[in-house]
Amino acid sequence: MASASASLKHGLSLWCPEPPALRRAPQRSSIGLGSFRRSYAAAAFDNENREFVIVGGGNSAGYAARTFVEHGMADGRLCIVSKEAHAPYERPALTKGYLFPLDKKPARLPGFHTCVGSGGERQTAEWYKEKGIEMLYEDPVTSIDIDKQTLTTDSGKLLKYGSLIIATGCTASRFPEKIGGNLPGVHYIRDVADANSLISSWEKAKKLVVVGGGYIGMEVAAAAVAWKLDTTIIFPENHLLQRLFTPSLAQRYEEFYKDNGVKFMKGASIKHLEAGSDGHVCSVKLEDGSMIEADAVVIGIGAKPAVGPFERVGLNSSVGGIQVDSQFRTKIPGIFAIGDVAAFPLKMYDRIARVEHVDHARRSAQHCAKSILTAQTHIYDYLPYFYSRVFEYEGSPRKLWWQFFGDNVGEAIEVGSFDPKIATFWVDSGKLKGVLLESGNPEEFQLLPKLARSQPTVDTTKLRNASSVEEALEIVQQSL
Ligand SMILES: Cc1cc2nc3c(=O)[nH]c(=O)nc-3n(C[C@H](O)[C@H](O)[C@H](O)COP(=O)(O)OP(=O)(O)OC[C@H]3O[C@@H](n4cnc5c(N)ncnc54)[C@H](O)[C@@H]3O)c2cc1C
Repeated sequence: MASASASLKHGLSLWCPEPPALRRAPQRSSIGLGSFRRSYAAAAFDNENREFVIVGGGNSAGYAARTFVEHGMADGRLCIVSKEAHAPYERPALTKGYLFPLDKKPARLPGFHTCVGSGGERQTAEWYKEKGIEMLYEDPVTSIDIDKQTLTTDSGKLLKYGSLIIATGCTASRFPEKIGGNLPGVHYIRDVADANSLISSWEKAKKLVVVGGGYIGMEVAAAAVAWKLDTTIIFPENHLLQRLFTPSLAQRYEEFYKDNGVKFMKGASIKHLEAGSDGHVCSVKLEDGSMIEADAVVIGIGAKPAVGPFERVGLNSSVGGIQVDSQFRTKIPGIFAIGDVAAFPLKMYDRIARVEHVDHARRSAQHCAKSILTAQTHIYDYLPYFYSRVFEYEGSPRKLWWQFFGDNVGEAIEVGSFDPKIATFWVDSGKLKGVLLESGNPEEFQLLPKLARSQPTVDTTKLRNASSVEEALEIVQQSL
């Protein structure tokens, strides 16, 4: 990593003052003049240069906006250019509360705008107006001129920026059109519009095929149980969430899903999706010749960094996405990238990584904005954290909730049984590197980051012999 991060040093000052031409006088805000200030703020942006522009109105944009506001640098200075029609929201909700059956109080906007996911303020579209932040909705950026520091949007707007933060996230990987990837009834979930389309499909559907055994597939299949859909989950790997779960943990999840009516086809590859006489998807054909009927199909096979028009900013060839240093600076002075799209130095494990999880989206946004706006010089030292929650709707057989911190390398030691709780500890060269806990209590979950961060040397024999999760956590805690 030393060489990778060294090559990224481009001599940019951490504080990126803008050339005078790009500066605007801060808007005066006074109590009682709210509506005057709002209309002035909106008008002030018309055909003018923007001091700070964020491209992408998703999770990280919402958290970055909050940091700009906290530093008094949003009002009249910050513009967010968004492809979506909504103010930034907590995207993980889309395959959780959003998919609850309609009679089980599903989550809907404005309920889950950022930053509610971390206990912060709910930043509705009105919040952005009040804070003097210019929001351009449904107008994706289509090109950038790095020399002139301008962006062009789909509608033809030309935006001059001082500093630019690329926060474009990922796009869902799709099946090619020639194998039926675009048929009506075939769904991908990345945004609210996708989730709405899925819900209208489910209102009529009886048979659902979920393609992919990762966390999106697992969350969608769990939601489909609540909708009483005849659900089959198909994936090419041997077990669920192969990138993280051990085979035995995956087996316990699989049994739980099966007990709730979900069918599994593992190690299976899709040949194509077939359309019925009405043109709508009607079945999924596998390479082995078998066929599964479906009136809705959800594809959850991963995502790709949305580098869109920003390739020239500098991509990472191994993990994809836009290469940044530990202050989220790209190789172009004044241009930054955060969230899913950023390939950054993961200091703890001495490697370059891209992390497609919301905790990193939030933290990278805050870190980057602080680096731009203050004299902050400390580097981003991220501890990977992933979580998922399934079967959490009212009346579900049981809520399942896991959290993982660290790195899943080395020997995996599993302790406990699925009922009531289970933990997996990854130990490499005697050191605890990663820990996953299912159905822990708040105190237990709080311990996990401390463990993964400090990587204590653990007695693996003792750990293997622990008779309960509580005992195992006690053993590893004592090694801290
Ligand atoms: C359905 C779903 C469930 C998830 N569940 C979990 C979970 O349980 N736990 C977890 O840790 N993580 C989860 N994630 C991942 C998490 O949501 C992402 O890591 C996070 O949203 C990343 O934030 P971001 O700002 O980088 O990207 P996003 O939130 O994806 O925002 C990117 C925004 O940029 C817009 N955009 C793209 N290109 C352009 C352009 N050219 N111009 C303008 N705008 C553009 C996009 O439309 C989008 O609005 C989930 C993701 C999805 C899709």
